[in-house]
Amino acid sequence: MINLSVKTSERVDFIDITDLVATEVSKAAVDSGTVTVYVPHTTCGVTINESADPDVVRDMKMHFAKMVPKDGGFRHYEGNSDSHIKTTMVGSSETIFVEEGRLVLGTWQGVFLCDFDGPRTRKVYLKIRAG
Ligand code: ZN
Repeated sequence: MINLSVKTSERVDFIDITDLVATEVSKAAVDSGTVTVYVPHTTCGVTINESADPDVVRDMKMHFAKMVPKDGGFRHYEGNSDSHIKTTMVGSSETIFVEEGRLVLGTWQGVFLCDFDGPRTRKVYLKIRAG
């Protein structure tokens, strides 16, 4: 397992980690296989979506805030139930195919760490498998 750290700078922050993941895949010298990107947190997840136009991330953050407002009348004592709910919506892992030592992503796709309760330093675990 590869253990990486990613710093976020806002309460809700999407960090494009595509290059970080691609670099580790390249170092692993796996020609064909998969990489699983796993985030071991309850208020921070991972997703794959458009990385070309930054307005897509802006719109997603805005819509998540509308769907799950911070002050939604939740009971959880930490006051961050919105962060937990949004994390469950995006999920904690993604698996990406690797071919010829490269991530198999669509033209507009990128891999994003989605922090919903930052800013913090978040862990990202990678598991790269041949096959
Ligand atoms: Zn909590």
